[in-house]
Amino acid sequence: MFSYRHAFHAGNHADVLKHVVQILLLDYLLQKPKALRVIDTHAGAGIADLHGDYAQKSGESANGIGKLWTQRALSVELTRYMDVISSVNAPGVWRFYPGSPAISRALLRPEDSLHLFELHPSDLALLSKEFAGQDRAQPRVYVNGHDGFAALKSLLPPPTRRGLILIDPPYEDKQDYSRVVQALEEGLRRFATGTYAIWYPCLARHESRELPNQLKRLPITDWLQVELAITGNDSTHLVRSGMFVINPPWVLKSTLQQVMPELVSLLGLDHHAHYVLSDAQTSS
Ligand code: SAM
Repeated sequence: MFSYRHAFHAGNHADVLKHVVQILLLDYLLQKPKALRVIDTHAGAGIADLHGDYAQKSGESANGIGKLWTQRALSVELTRYMDVISSVNAPGVWRFYPGSPAISRALLRPEDSLHLFELHPSDLALLSKEFAGQDRAQPRVYVNGHDGFAALKSLLPPPTRRGLILIDPPYEDKQDYSRVVQALEEGLRRFATGTYAIWYPCLARHESRELPNQLKRLPITDWLQVELAITGNDSTHLVRSGMFVINPPWVLKSTLQQVMPELVSLLGLDHHAHYVLSDAQTSS
């Protein structure tokens, strides 16, 4: 269980998709003045050094954020994403890549709260260090070393009934697939109106192929699914991943219809690159 370190994968194409969607969700949810609770069940280390050993060894960011650093003409949405990435870097220097916790911290307001769960002792230590000390101008942040799947229900519903739940497990253990579904069943029972965003890899294994179908069978009426493939099938590397959003903002689909072709053209490795976008309305 403790073999997975997200630093190997930081800033890859899957992170780009995940974090573009995370920012779109936060920007929408933060339009309302009522406090928002963000629960990040699988937080990682908070921020990654792309010059560090792990990232250098894998080189994965080259096929992700590495393709966006130098782009000048980006859409409003991708410019916004790049502005958030820039906010953890010195001007003109591209070195650090913010994970989902640092992205939430960059956007949330003092009245909001951020609950971070991370099991790996080394990443938990890095996360705790990154979030040590509370700044009054930032949201309240709670860093926790408990199992994020099990802990989720204890934080639902949020007192203001406004919440974004990010679920982003490694999926190296096949139980992660069933635990995502179980955590959502419990979460939805307590907080049916929350916005839930689940990242998933598109792999040949049965559990992976079945996960989106299982998510669609949850007791939900509104969902959106977006997948980005940077090339055709590849059994050795992750080349396709998706985000499944329960109770998505109404504008998310039309925004992604604009952004996804741009991501395909920026991150695609060849003519097999493509995206898939569907939602409860189109699939019924
Ligand atoms: N969400 C992060 C981001 O976007 O930057 C990346 C998270 S990474 C894909 C998954 C993380 O979950 C790993 O750091 C792993 O140690 C941690 N993890 C695995 N199982 C967990 C569990 N049951 N509860 C909390 N954290 C877990």
